[in-house]
Amino acid sequence: MLSRRQMLFGGASAVAVLAGSAGLVSIFGRADAADGDFPVTMTPEEWKAKLTSQQYAVLREAGTERAYTSPLNEEKRAGTFHCAGCDNALYSSDTKYESGTGWPSFYQPVDDGAVATSVDYKLVYPRTEVHCADCGGHLGHIFDDGPPPTGKRHCINGVALVFRPSDGGEAVLG
Ligand SMILES: [Zn+2]
Repeated sequence: MLSRRQMLFGGASAVAVLAGSAGLVSIFGRADAADGDFPVTMTPEEWKAKLTSQQYAVLREAGTERAYTSPLNEEKRAGTFHCAGCDNALYSSDTKYESGTGWPSFYQPVDDGAVATSVDYKLVYPRTEVHCADCGGHLGHIFDDGPPPTGKRHCINGVALVFRPSDGGEAVLG
């Protein structure tokens, strides 16, 4: 389990090392995205049965996938990106852009109620954590270096998403 997580979290290791060993412990620690009341709730055991191990590590334990690993980085068709945990519609392809970071990036959610945020203190500086408004699943973080019109960059783990093309084609797991 530990070695798989170390692989999964490898992309964040350079930053985590800066935060020291205490930072690493907190990154691998509790699932903060599930705090609070959400319309969709399941026990950890139920989520584990529903999700792949990578989906669980990101959505329920606030992990970070390695950069440039999600097939959704290259997804350019029209469609909607849904939560891999509860299928809530989160982001439209209309607001997806190439950020050069290796993670699927969007400048705004599909509507104001699709996602919610909290402050993440896992690293040495606070970050805005973004999660699914329906199930609380961790999606990624929001930064202020995005393109117009919002100036926001929603930096999203592809594994937290399912892409549904608007032409009715087969869904793509991130
Ligand atoms: Zn969800």
